[in-house]
Amino acid sequence: MTKIGLEIHCQLTNLESKLFCSCKANYREFEINENICPICMGLPGSLPRLNQDAVKKATMIALALNCSTPEKIAFFRKNYFYPDLPKNFQITQLNIYGDTSVGGSGSIQVGDKKIRITRIQLEEDPGRLIYEGSSSKNQITLVDYNRAGTPLVEIVTEPDFETPKQVREFLNILSDLLENLGVSDPSLEGAMRADANVSIEGGKKVEVKNIGSFHDLEKAVHFEITRQNSLHSRDIEIIQETRHWDDKRKITISARSKEEELDYRYFLEGDIPWIKIGQDVQEQLKLEMPESISSKKERYVSVYDIPPQVADVLSSDKFYSDLFEASHTKDNAKEISNIITTDLMGLVDTREKRETSKITAEHLKDLADSITNGKISRNSAKNALHEIIKTGKSVFQTISDLDLGNVSDESELDKVIQEVVSEESKAVEQAKSNPQTINYLVGKVMQKTQGKADPGLTLQLLKKAIG
Ligand SMILES: [Zn+2]
Repeated sequence: MTKIGLEIHCQLTNLESKLFCSCKANYREFEINENICPICMGLPGSLPRLNQDAVKKATMIALALNCSTPEKIAFFRKNYFYPDLPKNFQITQLNIYGDTSVGGSGSIQVGDKKIRITRIQLEEDPGRLIYEGSSSKNQITLVDYNRAGTPLVEIVTEPDFETPKQVREFLNILSDLLENLGVSDPSLEGAMRADANVSIEGGKKVEVKNIGSFHDLEKAVHFEITRQNSLHSRDIEIIQETRHWDDKRKITISARSKEEELDYRYFLEGDIPWIKIGQDVQEQLKLEMPESISSKKERYVSVYDIPPQVADVLSSDKFYSDLFEASHTKDNAKEISNIITTDLMGLVDTREKRETSKITAEHLKDLADSITNGKISRNSAKNALHEIIKTGKSVFQTISDLDLGNVSDESELDKVIQEVVSEESKAVEQAKSNPQTINYLVGKVMQKTQGKADPGLTLQLLKKAIG
């Protein structure tokens, strides 16, 4: 049986400052080595000061993943020498003296499978290495410390996955969950990184490090299973080792043995006291946490009678569910959920489009009302939406500018119907004997009016015209 376990690193976003100093957490805004100070550079005499907000957000992740949350947490030094780590140690968490990380064991449901979470820890991100030069001979490595000390949450799972597909499903659920909590932005480059351990029946455990995105994680796991199966089928022993993911060639390569033999000499970080997160604080955090995705879904189905599949899509994406929450009433909820899931999601489907989109809750509300009142057809609503996303103009202005309003003038509509009746004599005869087939004629009227005929009135007038 194949066993896969994951270690996922996700950057905490929406934080003012780094984990132990007042430098900005949003390091992407800065020129190289502009966002640094004596604390995150580890200069002698500097002392770390823990960011309370980061602890709160990490604890929220632990609570959302059903993890146990200890009342006291501690930090440890993980010692290693590498240019991206100015202090020569990383401040992280570890469960040496019982459960002292922000999150203990928990679980998350992925389809029929329960994936167990081993622990969740809060730690600082190292700096970033930049490689320059075209060949290995003249290549140089530069270091940018802007990221050093920014808050990172590590989520460690038990080896409960059996297939790359389960891994992907888990990552989708986790991304949605983190986004819904408002603690992380999985779409930012480098915001999610992962290591995986993979073993097949009869083989040793292989660790795959350096996977830079969720997209590559599934690929890396898939590659590693194929590689190990191929060795196994040729009776070649699978050794316990660390391999690196090469994201250009999309393969894993064996790490030099020196890198495997690291001894981190963990010890308690004496410059940060043990932090108490009492029951009262935890209860308060639970109150501050946004409604969970599963609870939203349940509410959409039970209160608004939205079909479960639509509710599923709508609740799992924060961007759309926020729009829905701000625009719907009990009466228009179903129509708005339709507009969002059938039209808007297709038109605004990338991070960039979301950021530039001018759509507001007010627009959605007015669009739904216009459809319900028969002012525009669903088809015209989609055309209006297309325009509003770009211009941000009001729904009423857009309907008038693009001449999208329904044709509800009886004499105007009757003229079109007479045309259709004379052109489609065969279909008219059929409709007389089989009333169901009248929809074909309604379709023809819609075609001639570019979908703008008022459907109710069209049907009524058609029936009269046929006699
Ligand atoms: Zn700093």
